[in-house]
Amino acid sequence: MDKYKVLIGLEMHCEISETNTKVFSSAENSYKDEPNSNVRPVDLGFPGTLPVVNKEAVKKALMASIILNCKQPEYIYFERKNYYYPDLPKGFQITQETKPAPVGIYGELEYECNGEMKKARINNIHLEEDAASTDHYSRYSTIDYNRAGVPLLELVTYPDFRSADEAVAFLETMRRIYQYAGISEADSRKGQVRCDVNVSIMDKDLDETKEENWGTKVEIKNVNSFSGVRDAINYEIERQIEAKENGTYDDMEQQTRRWDEASMTTIYMRGKVDAIDYKYFVEPNIPKFKLAESWVEEIRKSIPVLANERKHTYIEEYGLSNYDATILVKEKSISDFYEETIKLGADPKTSSNWMTTVILGHLNKYELEIKDIYLTPEYLVELINLVEKGDISSKQSKEVFYKILEEKKSPSEIVKSLGMKQIGDEDTLRPMIVKIIEEHLDLIEEYRKGRNVFDFFVGQVMKQTRGQANPSLTAKIIKEEIDKR
Ligand code: MN
Repeated sequence: MDKYKVLIGLEMHCEISETNTKVFSSAENSYKDEPNSNVRPVDLGFPGTLPVVNKEAVKKALMASIILNCKQPEYIYFERKNYYYPDLPKGFQITQETKPAPVGIYGELEYECNGEMKKARINNIHLEEDAASTDHYSRYSTIDYNRAGVPLLELVTYPDFRSADEAVAFLETMRRIYQYAGISEADSRKGQVRCDVNVSIMDKDLDETKEENWGTKVEIKNVNSFSGVRDAINYEIERQIEAKENGTYDDMEQQTRRWDEASMTTIYMRGKVDAIDYKYFVEPNIPKFKLAESWVEEIRKSIPVLANERKHTYIEEYGLSNYDATILVKEKSISDFYEETIKLGADPKTSSNWMTTVILGHLNKYELEIKDIYLTPEYLVELINLVEKGDISSKQSKEVFYKILEEKKSPSEIVKSLGMKQIGDEDTLRPMIVKIIEEHLDLIEEYRKGRNVFDFFVGQVMKQTRGQANPSLTAKIIKEEIDKR
């Protein structure tokens, strides 16, 4: 590894989930419905049907382009990529392949990888339509045209990543951008995100800014998860280093491979000679239209607060650590929940502690999302307040938390039903403590000699109150009463 450096480029496909309809048809853009129920004739390429551009999809695509610091085109237009496959009944995909068609070209994005800021250059981001989805079984295949025509964003980077860690950190940053900007749920489990990865290696001492020094580009198609991207890159690096070491690297042709999850290897699909000529041309059924600068500005102003900005606020205004702030913004649903508790008056640090330890611990353990559990921001704030008022101890509050989820009741209801109320008023505790001390005056002598009798007294109070005495108040009163004597 020390002898080589790695060049990695990414193509990230992400479905735009936050539009009502598909990109060129009026069929619903939805993931929840019966297969083949969200289909219009144009999605199946029926003769005489014509595509109509979805303005909302273009708007979201332009928003992504702006966030990625890309240059927007003067005219919006589309192109045809010609090929036939059952998931593409029209015989072509409407896309934006050749410059200057894409909604964004030549951008860059800063991202954080293992605590370090890195920058990746973007070649382009373009809007296209997704194909239908197919599933293959041993004796038959199924096809679902609900996905045919779903708006899809394809982002193409330069080979600016030097490790699998960097590539995955970039993809995670992009996923957050899509979520926070309201462009897409970007959920890999729903198949909304798919990646192609280019990997090549070159001798370490050669100049990487000169393209002729780059190694043979190997493209790995259709990796469906970020962990798959990481594994595929690491496997491919090893494979290519081995080829260098055994002298076969120079014979290796430029090729397309696929990631095979089962064997954790990449498998050869086709070489350069089999590369497909898609015969691109401008889509004649969608008129070219001029992109108004005022519209671009309007979109720029409507970009929501993104993860990085939120993180900054958490650190600078709420005084959270970089570590905690990073955890809180990782998923938008978590960050939204957290911000809601702040709005409801929770102390930012206390709420963050709950979120990053107890709540995320529970969600991760059972692979749940925050919306799956019976906890609302209101309930968390209520729970925090019960501790702050001294009604329950912080130890008890953990128990209450799990009971809320289990019994689907509010914090106060749980506290009441468990008879958990903490005894936090001095008028109840002091006479009780005075009585205990009076009964053990001999121990005060021991105390003066240096024996630790303190815990004994605390224990007695807890025994009498069945653990419900407020610990810090109890300690305070015991100390005062001993000192008096
Ligand atoms: Mn594409």
